Amino acid sequence: MSVTGTPFEIPLSDVRVAEDEIAAAADALRSGWLTMGPRTAAFEEAFAQRLGCRHAIAVANGTAALHLAYLAAGIGPGDEVIVPSYTFVATAAAVVACGAAPVFADVLGAHDPSLDPDDVATRITPRTRAVAVVHFAGYPAPVDRLRALCDEHGLALIEDAAHAPVATLHGRALGTWGLAGCFSLFSNKVLSVGEGGVVVTDDDDAAQRIRLLRSHAMTTGTFDRHLGRALSYDVVDVGFNYRLDEPRAALALARMAKVDADVARRRVLTRRYRDLLAGVDGIGVPYEDAAIDDSSCYVMPVMLDDADRRDALCVTLRERHGVQTSILYPPAHRFTAYVQRQGATSLPRTEDAAAREVTIPLYGHLTAEQQERVVGALADALKRPVTA
Ligand SMILES: *Cc1c(COP(=O)(O)O)cnc(C)c1O
Repeated sequence: MSVTGTPFEIPLSDVRVAEDEIAAAADALRSGWLTMGPRTAAFEEAFAQRLGCRHAIAVANGTAALHLAYLAAGIGPGDEVIVPSYTFVATAAAVVACGAAPVFADVLGAHDPSLDPDDVATRITPRTRAVAVVHFAGYPAPVDRLRALCDEHGLALIEDAAHAPVATLHGRALGTWGLAGCFSLFSNKVLSVGEGGVVVTDDDDAAQRIRLLRSHAMTTGTFDRHLGRALSYDVVDVGFNYRLDEPRAALALARMAKVDADVARRRVLTRRYRDLLAGVDGIGVPYEDAAIDDSSCYVMPVMLDDADRRDALCVTLRERHGVQTSILYPPAHRFTAYVQRQGATSLPRTEDAAAREVTIPLYGHLTAEQQERVVGALADALKRPVTA
């Protein structure tokens, strides 16, 4: 069975699973042990080693990773967590799941839609317990400055590194700058298995709490009992079923071996896109060229000069050129659920960037010819008059 009947000639992302990766998942199925077990442990060890941190804890998805990281930071009812609005909504939703309130902060601008440490500083109150930062598109947010700010105010720094496996800042892996870093293994992410997530931390107490809460805070696991190591268990907290299973852990481990090569190709393609886009009027690209070597290049965002052209441009790309686009992100503070919870907030730079952003196709095996077609399609769409 081939890919899901996409109408697009050039889709936004295009996941390929290699035969050895399928074989690794099939091995897990043949083993007869399907839930969390030795393959999950092996994946965790490989992930921690690659990132250079003490603990990696595999979980059911990236949202669960955020929820557990926030709980490990002690976040609960009455607390505030400062989060970007320019993100996937999970960054904020996981705060609400803890019974706490997300406080949205603004980004630096369309040239760098990362959380602005100066804006974060103005939003700290006696209730603030943590700051969550997102490495948008895989490019490092200023976690060095945010870490210093958090240390100064006694706040936990949580990194939502869903876009940014094996990305760095000053040579240090993103996800390892604060108390905990959260990754997603969702289908369209850089390291994808369908559904899955990882929390990393150097803090032994946080790691222990995350492991406990991942599996209903039981003092022994089903696999321990399977191995005859334990007969029963106590429950020492109120936890969740946020476990990963073995076929996906096996897939993740097999795909992990290729993530550096994939990111290297994404960087080459990103540079090429930037060269091609430099010749197109009416469009800019965020981030400096120098940041590409630090980035996982998860997606390729571009910023239109004129937000009013965006809808027509996306339709032209789809209808005339078969090119899929996406908008990352509709800002979270504008979503009905968040306006209802906390009223209208104004974040001018987030709103500006979010109104002008278009994400264009990027994946490791995208060809040079496809890139030229995408950029040609953008140039064509921008030449068309805007019709009201
Ligand atoms: C994908 C994503 C998540 C959530 O991960 P899931 O695995 O889909 O739960 C959280 N934050 C960001 C920024 C994401 O892109």
